[in-house]
Amino acid sequence: MRAIDLSHDPKRKSWVSSANAPDGDFPIQNLPFCAFRRARSAEEFRGGVAIGDSVLDLGALHELGVLDGPAAHSLGACARPFLNALMGLGPEASSALRAGLSAALRTESTLAPRLRPLLIPQEAAEYRVAAQVGDYTDFYASIHHATAVGKLLRPDNPLFPNYKWLPVAYHGRASSIRVSGYDFARPAGQVLPPGAALPELAATRRLDYELEVGVFVGRGNELGRSVPLREAESHLFGLCLLNDWSARDIQAWEYQPLGPFLAKNFATTVSPWVVTLEALAPFRVPWSRPPGEPPPLAYLDDGTERGSGAIDIQLEARLDTARMRAAGLAPQRLSHASFRDSWWTIGQMLAHHTVNGCNLKPGDLLGSGTQSGPLPEQAGSLLELTSAGKRPIALAGGETRTFLEDGDRVILRGWCERPGYARIGFGEAVGTVLTA
Ligand code: CA
Repeated sequence: MRAIDLSHDPKRKSWVSSANAPDGDFPIQNLPFCAFRRARSAEEFRGGVAIGDSVLDLGALHELGVLDGPAAHSLGACARPFLNALMGLGPEASSALRAGLSAALRTESTLAPRLRPLLIPQEAAEYRVAAQVGDYTDFYASIHHATAVGKLLRPDNPLFPNYKWLPVAYHGRASSIRVSGYDFARPAGQVLPPGAALPELAATRRLDYELEVGVFVGRGNELGRSVPLREAESHLFGLCLLNDWSARDIQAWEYQPLGPFLAKNFATTVSPWVVTLEALAPFRVPWSRPPGEPPPLAYLDDGTERGSGAIDIQLEARLDTARMRAAGLAPQRLSHASFRDSWWTIGQMLAHHTVNGCNLKPGDLLGSGTQSGPLPEQAGSLLELTSAGKRPIALAGGETRTFLEDGDRVILRGWCERPGYARIGFGEAVGTVLTA
């Protein structure tokens, strides 16, 4: 677990005045990383860090040469088109860079005049997925989601017997991961319509989102070497928002016996910002099992994990339809949950992923699985919120929804709040469904 230090001090302010707004996503206590360039430019992408409403150009900062020691070494890894090299350096390196950036951006820094030209308004930048994702694994770590979906499919037996013992996952598709702002056409696939005897090829009629946390792998592990739970977080870099778009009718017909395939690999949206585990240190909370539930096997259980293995990240999904935009209505909140309710922690996911010696590489991406809270209104997908399309949601402006319609825009947000600490945010992961 990362330590709380001066970089988390809520009294620390920045000479970038927009970073000092109390309800902003990007105060000096956050400092999330991205890969960016000026919008509509032919510049090479490079690393950036969010501060207030701006992004600090880490490629230019590296050229300026004002940081020294381990922070300067880490900064060199940011002057590249993707952040895999930074992620692979490990937690000591990212902590050193965080400390250096925090010192350079704080009000008392004498570097302000030299760094100010390196700030680019976030709205004038374009982003890409922060890392070149070699492999992508999607977990199923919310027991509330797994139970609710299981009840829809198997009312008498919602959870398979393995669920409480191991972090269930499938291997996803890395090539279709896109940064926030990606608009995509409603995908086609093979479906078995209700009551039909034969399947057909059709545009999906049951397109859904999944509200998830993404986790970027940091330092890798060699093939054949498992990572014990006590070391697991030292192999993780940071977290983002992730929307695992899902075509439920395609999924229902194809998923047995090998799991999701074309129902999910047409698009996955992530937020541009990667919030480091260092920034999340104040928001760690105990991880526990409810009374009466079995403890996990020893390789997934230890005192550190029980003390602070979970993270209290508020997660929210909003829907913005074409008619709502035309009428000037604000996006409507569909649900709100916390990542602290996840049955499995990010450390347990990594330890389990490598227990057989599977090698993970810097920049690999793990999805947490849909994060639903214990209450029905905290569900992280339309499948759950509408009981598989049987209970439409009423929207402001008079529309209803069971599944997503053309023109619908889904906005995921995340943030952390705790008394005595600065609020930090994840920004947004946004995607829009276009006509097939
Ligand atoms: Ca998922």
